[in-house]
Amino acid sequence: MRGTIAIHDRTQKTLEQIPFDNTFVKLGADFFQSKSPDPVTDPYLVDFNPEAARLIQIHPGESSREAFVQFFSGSQVLPGSEPLAMVYSGHQFGVYNPRLGDGRGLLLGETRLPNGETWEIHLKGCGPTRFARGFDGRATLRSSIREHLGGEAMHGLGIPTTRSLAVIGIRELIYRERPELAAILVRLSDSHIRFGSFEYFHYTNRPEKVRELADYVLARHFPDIADEPDRYRLLFRRVILSTAHLLAAWQTAGFVHGVMNTDNMSITGTTFDYGPYAFIDRYNPHFTSNHSDTHGRYALGQQPEIAHWNLGKFGETLIGLVPAEHLQQELEGYQPLFNRLLRERMGKKLAIQVLDEEFTTLAGNLLRYLYETRIDYTNFFRRLADYQVDNRETRFESQGQKSDLETWLAHYQRLLDREDTDPEDRRKEMNRVNPKFILRNYLLEGAITKAIQEGDFSEVERLRILLQDPFRDRPEIFAQYKIDPDVYASDTPDAFIEHQLSCSA
Ligand code: AMP
Ligand code: MG
Repeated sequence: MRGTIAIHDRTQKTLEQIPFDNTFVKLGADFFQSKSPDPVTDPYLVDFNPEAARLIQIHPGESSREAFVQFFSGSQVLPGSEPLAMVYSGHQFGVYNPRLGDGRGLLLGETRLPNGETWEIHLKGCGPTRFARGFDGRATLRSSIREHLGGEAMHGLGIPTTRSLAVIGIRELIYRERPELAAILVRLSDSHIRFGSFEYFHYTNRPEKVRELADYVLARHFPDIADEPDRYRLLFRRVILSTAHLLAAWQTAGFVHGVMNTDNMSITGTTFDYGPYAFIDRYNPHFTSNHSDTHGRYALGQQPEIAHWNLGKFGETLIGLVPAEHLQQELEGYQPLFNRLLRERMGKKLAIQVLDEEFTTLAGNLLRYLYETRIDYTNFFRRLADYQVDNRETRFESQGQKSDLETWLAHYQRLLDREDTDPEDRRKEMNRVNPKFILRNYLLEGAITKAIQEGDFSEVERLRILLQDPFRDRPEIFAQYKIDPDVYASDTPDAFIEHQLSCSA
């Protein structure tokens, strides 16, 4: 049966048929180290993501071939791929680190689809490269599962992100705070070029390499502006634009990246390099999910400003290509742009269209209320959707101080009345943008514990399926995967609120 599908559907390929373009190789040896992944013994499949396979047109049946784990653990090199570790540097916690680079990851190459989309395939955790700085070149099973599900949850929310094709376990213990199982993540991304890729050449004083990289990024990712006379300025504008979009999306989803170093900022404004990240349970602008971030540099409320700072560092690398005052002008566009995008997203969350000062006050008051009462952030918006809808009880009763809520709801009602919105329409609109399910850290931890302690990956699969579409119940699928929506949509138990994670988590 599987064979028949492969024959009839020519768009779906076997692994050996993946058409690789290796455009990055053409940039030359200054940009990377060529290296094959280190072979591993006895790799095994932890979780395969058919949605990501579909994205790059691999037949889902390929995951049951032994060749799948051989290729994606790096034990065999995929035909046509030219594995390489990219060089980059970057600002980590505000301090410049001159030498980073893919210490444990390899880019296999990119595959171009008939619709023009291009996806890079990258293995993370496949042995030390020249950039490993004494580290072991491996990734923990725990962190690989976190990145695998983080990307899928983000995608389910409609936010640009890297995807994960699979997690491959390897039978090797690696040492972090304690011995850990190791794994390899098969990551797909539109780009693996980071702000730090530019910084590396800028700070080693090679403006011609900055230009080559900029030309490469323009040709690959922004072909519509690649021939414009002021293309480098426009490139900066595009990076600012997509980063502002990303940050507005993160802030409203309640996503804390945890390590917004410039080497973890993608040039295409994609959520990139999931480390000790968190989707918040409760709204707290001071919360940072990263245990090592003692000063809260990357706390939820800091992220938009950090992105601005990082964009500044990226902009500086273009100084040989764009006059300083133009870079400055572009950068000054970030804050108002971000504010507008954030307001628009908050407007959608509340189903309000007129985004005037009244609305800004309403949204600000809401965040203050959520912060003070520590109500579940995600569930609040789902409950609010039912507000004033006939035959639906609004379940606010036991939450926080009623008078504050009543005052806020009265204000909300006034703004709704201005627009004459039908409550049922509003409910539908709100439930399309406010998820019912998010990747709560305690759910993720549960899946990881089961995987590590029992070798049982069913909960990883369950969360992946659940978060593909976090906005609605899907009774048939839920029955198939034994997903009880009430369990997965309930508030996070107090004991699990605001846990922090280490960078190797
Ligand atoms: P990250 O915190 O994952 O963004 O990584 C920061 C830098 O450290 C990058 O250059 C990584 O390649 C490198 N790195 C992190 N962990 C390892 C490891 N176990 N082996 C080699 N390099 C690593
Ligand atoms: Mg990184």
